[in-house]
Amino acid sequence: MILVEKREERGVEEYKMELKLIEKTENNVVLELSNTNESEINTLRRLIVSEVPTMAIEEVEFIKNDSALFDEILAHRLGLIPLTTDLKIFNERDKCKCEGKGCPLCQVEFTLVAKGKSTVYSSQLESKDEKTLPVFGNIPLVKLLDNQELELIAVAVLGRGKTHMKFAPGVVYYHHKPILKITHDAKKLEQFKDKYPKTAIVDGKLDEKTLLKDNLYEACEGICDELLKVDYEKNKFIFHVESFGQIKPMEMITVALEKFNEKIDDFVDALKDKKSTKK
Ligand SMILES: [Zn+2]
Repeated sequence: MILVEKREERGVEEYKMELKLIEKTENNVVLELSNTNESEINTLRRLIVSEVPTMAIEEVEFIKNDSALFDEILAHRLGLIPLTTDLKIFNERDKCKCEGKGCPLCQVEFTLVAKGKSTVYSSQLESKDEKTLPVFGNIPLVKLLDNQELELIAVAVLGRGKTHMKFAPGVVYYHHKPILKITHDAKKLEQFKDKYPKTAIVDGKLDEKTLLKDNLYEACEGICDELLKVDYEKNKFIFHVESFGQIKPMEMITVALEKFNEKIDDFVDALKDKKSTKK
């Protein structure tokens, strides 16, 4: 790790993790992280999954429910619908100015009315906030028969994955950066050809780019060490962040880093308090 700056006033040494963007799509980001270690990377992973808040339905009031599903089951299904989240607008309810009573800055109301033979989908939820909407409109919630009715009011709030996984913004995973040593030996490859996935061989050769894509090399490791040997870099990691759609993957990372800094500052302050009380 590289020591960047010594913040003497706080007594904290800062280290800089190096970051390289490898792939970026709307809901997916792949980064190469170096000058770091497993514990830091895993802390970042845990913070993204459990501390980055998103909106999800938390309370449901049923006015009518003739469907075959119990209220509790339907409420649970509603809670699992990912909702687009604007973290600049909303506060977590317990930290809001309304002191947890509920206001337009910490909750969004949805209504749903359906009647007659049909499948009810997430797109039928009417939101009172134009920015807070189901990410996917085609999630089936329940089936209704003739003359059956469903009417409900649902309230979505900001919450964190550590209280319920429905608030988790996505999935995060990482692995050490692989180093592929490929030897082009046509005879040998012919001998082992059937053991490798068909897609791994391009123009009669094991192709590095293809092997790295979607971690295909993992399926090829150990088949023949003379053709392909996989080593891993100790301090370099490939870090995958996939969003469920509530917020963008880059926002997931930046918010998690803010939480990381907050936690470290809290820790340092707690240590200082302890020292001063000892005196
Ligand atoms: Zn509020």
